[in-house]
Amino acid sequence: MRKILAFAVAALTFGCTPEPSIDVLCTTSVVADAARILLPEEISVQALMQSNIDPHSYKPVESDVAKLSNARIILHNGLHLEGKMTDILEKLGQQKPVHAMSSALQFHDLIEVGPNTYDPHIWFDLQLWDRCVGELAKFLIEQFPEHRQAIEQNATDYYSELALAHNEMILAINEVPDSLRAMVTAHDAFSYFGRAYGIEVHGLQGISTAAEFGIKDMSTSAQFILDRGLSTVFIETSVNSKSIEALQEAVAQKGGKVKIGAPLYSDALGEQGTAEASLLGAFRHNTTQILKSFN
Ligand SMILES: [Zn+2]
Repeated sequence: MRKILAFAVAALTFGCTPEPSIDVLCTTSVVADAARILLPEEISVQALMQSNIDPHSYKPVESDVAKLSNARIILHNGLHLEGKMTDILEKLGQQKPVHAMSSALQFHDLIEVGPNTYDPHIWFDLQLWDRCVGELAKFLIEQFPEHRQAIEQNATDYYSELALAHNEMILAINEVPDSLRAMVTAHDAFSYFGRAYGIEVHGLQGISTAAEFGIKDMSTSAQFILDRGLSTVFIETSVNSKSIEALQEAVAQKGGKVKIGAPLYSDALGEQGTAEASLLGAFRHNTTQILKSFN
């Protein structure tokens, strides 16, 4: 880590191998999706982390540092989602415009998980994300004033799409009895989602995949599944599925049976060219699978 940081600082100070210039460089695919929706096509938007990449454990490699150094502006999620990039993002913030999506939110919007530590998975509560997109639109208008009209129009259109998907989910979940509304996933990426849509969420690992889970967590999670009568547990596309497979085994040892559902998109969206490459595509995929598990 120290070596990468040293390189990063050197690269930022002295410059490094020229890379094709990028207008807007985003850390995750979720952030890049919002930027692409708001900006006209002639502004290039790239995500540093492609699909299936876990942002909690992602360490920037040398080519990433070059991209960060050459990008005109940088967008990230914030709240330490990009846990291994904190120092580099801070350093870059002294040199160029760097915007955190989470800066749109107040402390009372956030789920506190420890002293001064907040759950960073803010995007699956679509009403919260709507506000993050609104602040991003303001920031992008400051950076690209010549595109103000397009950004404002794209933002207005997108607010309608977010509201539609949010309302669809509210209508669907209202059909599900309270006693059935529970889900288990590989890590705690769905707490804001659960709060917004009235679902009790249990993540096998904590809010960061860097946290280890133990035998006790496994047994508690297995008991939760049995107590709530869950038919399905969910793996995630950006998290190793081994922990969920071990949980399935722990449920079997207690005499129960649970199946592994279709992978959910949590910290990374789907491959480019698929419906799930957009946040709303991933949201609809997830909600379809989650609602199905309640039957
Ligand atoms: Zn996560």
